Amino acid sequence: MSDKPLSKSRRDAVKVMLGTAAAIPVINLVGFGTARAAPANAVAATDPTAIALKYNADATQADRAAANRPGAPAEEQFCANCQFMLADAPGADADWKGCSLFPGKLVSVNGWCASWTLKAG
Ligand code: SF4
Repeated sequence: MSDKPLSKSRRDAVKVMLGTAAAIPVINLVGFGTARAAPANAVAATDPTAIALKYNADATQADRAAANRPGAPAEEQFCANCQFMLADAPGADADWKGCSLFPGKLVSVNGWCASWTLKAG
């Protein structure tokens, strides 16, 4: 790198880049561009039922294809379109809802488990 002092426009550009880099973690903290943190009563990956049913809060990481559940292509299977999802559960919101198979707990609408069954109608 040259020992020449940075020109004002280059200094300004560097400041903008540093400012942008510093802003990214702040943006993530306030939730833009990232999924909301799991609620306290979300089904944990260590939950014995979750393990038995191969539940994953991120369906894209679950073994949907191998399970070969009927009703919809594997890549279209999510808790959100499962018969067992309960829209009305304590603590439920747009991202986390109840499930008949996990009483008192919440599952991600983007999750999946081996009991996935296409929601009727
Ligand atoms: S039964 Fe349905 S709603 Fe419940 S965890 Fe499994 S896929 Fe999700």
